[in-house]
Amino acid sequence: MKLKVMYDNEAEGGLESDWGFSCLIEEGGRKLLFDTGASDSILARNMEKLGITREEIEVIALSHEHWDHIGGLNAVLHPDVVVYVPTSFTAATKKKLRRNVAELREVSGPEEIMAGIHTTGELGAGIKEQSLVLDTRIGEMVLTGCAHPGLDTIMDAARIFGDIGGVMGGFHGFDKLELLNGLEKIIPCHCTVRKTEILERYPGVAVKCAAGKEIEV
Ligand SMILES: [Zn+2]
Ligand SMILES: [Zn+2]
Repeated sequence: MKLKVMYDNEAEGGLESDWGFSCLIEEGGRKLLFDTGASDSILARNMEKLGITREEIEVIALSHEHWDHIGGLNAVLHPDVVVYVPTSFTAATKKKLRRNVAELREVSGPEEIMAGIHTTGELGAGIKEQSLVLDTRIGEMVLTGCAHPGLDTIMDAARIFGDIGGVMGGFHGFDKLELLNGLEKIIPCHCTVRKTEILERYPGVAVKCAAGKEIEV
């Protein structure tokens, strides 16, 4: 499984950085886009540099309704795409999506989205969010948007799919770093407050996140 960071607070290889997050997952020739960053023009330019067209994206999964995750939607919507959102998304966003995509699927509980790619379902008491759980050769890889429900809560929910081998995405204020002990891959992106600390604490395991980064798991 290949993960390509399309949008992040950091960038490399000539891509643009901006506050937000988007990651493309490629598995068996199929492509799923997780979140879309904040700006459709930045996302479009980053996609162009990486040679990705919107029509190649079969499925879009949106973690939560914050602007830095759904702001780039206009760069990737197309009539054949299927979009997964937490059921708590506002009626206005759902309406816009229904008008522009093949199908809108509302997520409440855990389910499989594509072969080897699952959603935790909608989690959190405050800001509701779904995360993805990917079957990889290092075990389950958890992919988060901002991890508003708490990365520990998300990891607990992800374990129904198997042992967790890695975590990636925005971890927000997550500070129970010891819960990351024993993982094979840790990729703190976007809003992760303790990014530097995580990179220093897990050398060889933690990988710096940036738009343009490609990770094979
Ligand atoms: Zn957020
Ligand atoms: Zn965010």
